[in-house]
Amino acid sequence: MTPDLTPTPSPIAERVFCANHPDRETTLRCNKCGKPICVKCARRTPIGYRCKECVNQHQQLFETAQWYDLVIAFVLSTALSAVGGALVTALGWFVIILAPMAGSVIAEVIFRAMRKRRSRYLPWIAAGGAALGGLALCALPMLALVAGLFVGDGSFMNFGSLLRLIWPVVYVALCASTVYYRMRGIGIN
Ligand SMILES: [Zn+2]
Ligand SMILES: [Zn+2]
Repeated sequence: MTPDLTPTPSPIAERVFCANHPDRETTLRCNKCGKPICVKCARRTPIGYRCKECVNQHQQLFETAQWYDLVIAFVLSTALSAVGGALVTALGWFVIILAPMAGSVIAEVIFRAMRKRRSRYLPWIAAGGAALGGLALCALPMLALVAGLFVGDGSFMNFGSLLRLIWPVVYVALCASTVYYRMRGIGIN
């Protein structure tokens, strides 16, 4: 009786290769689909290593907004920010308190208008609209400032115009950043 000489592969010796790179041995696996992946193919996520395909699939789920949703969000944000800004900046230093509130309202309105549709571009678009709406308010004092420089009483800096520019600028900064962070917070849920 001759002993069986063919080596039985031990479980430890079982070699696994990356699904995308057949020449690369690996011990990593995608924690969603279980596909073996090498270090280069692995994508680190908050819930572990995943393959590129599973990560892309996950991102697709969040990209449910249509192009017109983004247009609506931008127009809404611009209009609301201009109206809100006109009211808020008339109240002087109250801007510091009211501008973030206006930002929250704008984010909430856009969120409702979008219903369940999401997009990772939305925070940028909404914040951009809010900034544009607010900047429209800066246009008039800005013109007054420039006009003061050239046709004013000759003083180089028209202090009154500069003061009138402060609150709209503060409004733009506070309102747009609030919209951005609120939309991001909503998007992550
Ligand atoms: Zn996978
Ligand atoms: Zn690979």
